[in-house]
Amino acid sequence: MPIPNHDVAAIFSKVADLLEIKGENPFRVRAYREAARTVSGLSQSVADLLKEGRDLTELPGIGKDLAGKIEEIVTTGRLTLLEDLTQQIPGELTELMKVAGLGAKRVARMYQELNIRSLDDLRQAAEQGRLAELEGFGDKTQTKILEEVKRLRRDQTHRTLLAIAAQYAQPLMDHLGKAKGVKDLIIAGSYRRRRETVHDLDILATCKRGSTVMDHFVKYDEVKEVVSHGKTRSTVLLRSGFQVDLRVVPQVSYGAALVYFTGSKPHNIAIRKRAVRKKLKINEYGVFRGNGRIAGRTEEEVYDTLGLPWIPPDLRENRGEVEAAEQGTLPTLVELGDIQGDLHVHTNYTDGRHTIEQMARAAQKRGYKYLAIADHSQRITVAHGLMPKALREQIEQIDRLNDRLKGFVVLKAIEVDILADGRLDLPDEVLKELDLRVCSIHSKFNLSRTEQTERVLRAMDNPYFNILAHPTGRLIGERDAYDLDMERIMEHAAANGCYLELNAHPERLDLDDNHCRMAKNKGLKVVVSTDAHRMDDLAYMVYGVGQARRGWLEADDVLNSRNLKDLRTLLRR
Ligand SMILES: [Zn+2]
Ligand SMILES: [Zn+2]
Repeated sequence: MPIPNHDVAAIFSKVADLLEIKGENPFRVRAYREAARTVSGLSQSVADLLKEGRDLTELPGIGKDLAGKIEEIVTTGRLTLLEDLTQQIPGELTELMKVAGLGAKRVARMYQELNIRSLDDLRQAAEQGRLAELEGFGDKTQTKILEEVKRLRRDQTHRTLLAIAAQYAQPLMDHLGKAKGVKDLIIAGSYRRRRETVHDLDILATCKRGSTVMDHFVKYDEVKEVVSHGKTRSTVLLRSGFQVDLRVVPQVSYGAALVYFTGSKPHNIAIRKRAVRKKLKINEYGVFRGNGRIAGRTEEEVYDTLGLPWIPPDLRENRGEVEAAEQGTLPTLVELGDIQGDLHVHTNYTDGRHTIEQMARAAQKRGYKYLAIADHSQRITVAHGLMPKALREQIEQIDRLNDRLKGFVVLKAIEVDILADGRLDLPDEVLKELDLRVCSIHSKFNLSRTEQTERVLRAMDNPYFNILAHPTGRLIGERDAYDLDMERIMEHAAANGCYLELNAHPERLDLDDNHCRMAKNKGLKVVVSTDAHRMDDLAYMVYGVGQARRGWLEADDVLNSRNLKDLRTLLRR
């Protein structure tokens, strides 16, 4: 395939950025920028122009030297100049120039003085306050840059966190529900499959004749731009830039359309193949034998014609669900209502907002039977091997509160740091006073895979270790997981009576779906906890349960679906 103009232009832009960071002659920098613009604005590809024997120096701003460089890129796919430059300074530095407020000069200084080479480095430096110490930066600039880096990482993935999409979706669905003549109304796509991030929203509706739902949709207050407005399909962009599609489908096709637009693509391909084997045709309008529609009204009907039971959307990723459906071995997925308590929340003893009692009452209101208060260990420093004062106070307060609560128990816990050498941050005499210990890594994310894995395994050897919190440390779209041998960790946990958390915070969802499935296959139970820092955060449980379902977990696979008595037994090592 000939190299597209876009790629040629990208190489020139990168050269321009690197020259600028190096502090080269501004005219030379500008020449490359202009060349990039010229090439990307051409209607014909430079590769074709060369093939036709055209002289590229006829193009505006392209001299002999640049024409030669275009030819080099087109024939070899590379540019020696760019390779030479990246020998001298890291190529990723150009990524930093995308951060608003960072020009070449600042990027150069950050690199020379703080060895910042990538967005991750930049983020770390800003979080640790090192950036503010650079001359001419300061706290304000540092905060702004940090926000910008986070936004950039999100934009790069072009995906929106499920919890944020829900914030857009719920009021919009309320609005649509009020339109005249609407019957069914549902969000399909990855939103329905509860993926941790979604690209856009695909809404399906069925309507009575003469419905005004489409007009109602494009007139929604939050719409910034109507991309298209038709009778059966409209697309809008919300103020945030988030895209929403609405399709109105006939009642007879509703189930088929729902299967089709829920996806995933691989799942749809798998069931289409199955239909073909049965001499059927399946599409968004229905299931057909010859020209006759034999199903389409409901999803159940569609799956039934394929000889399958209905498959929950959370499983539709072509990861064995079609085979399991055929064999009658689909899991009975865990539900929000199965959850009996939350085992990782914070209070105003450390960085949480609310008191122990407020958190307990809020949990009880959600129908839970227990709640574990797990404040951070780093702030609870030990004096002379005695029980730290704050923790002692907290324990006494929990005892008093438990005397007053009916049908609900607050468990004494802690979120204890796993130190770099695998020791826990508090002595055993302190840890043993608690009902359970949630153990986590909050530092030294960059250890090698072996070191990081050994660190966790050693921590689990401590008899007071119960639950490994947010096991991979990832922040969706912001920070990658640290390098761990998850198989070994899960095996060690299972062998030693430890558990792994699925942290339900929408930015974490850690363990992810694949790791949940791995845990299940190893017979290791998962704890779904919210890590709530405020009463409202307890509601994150729904996202944790969603991820657990995507990981094929049943109630039995989730530790906190047990009643308190069984929980205590299972926590005993
Ligand atoms: Zn934590
Ligand atoms: Zn926490």
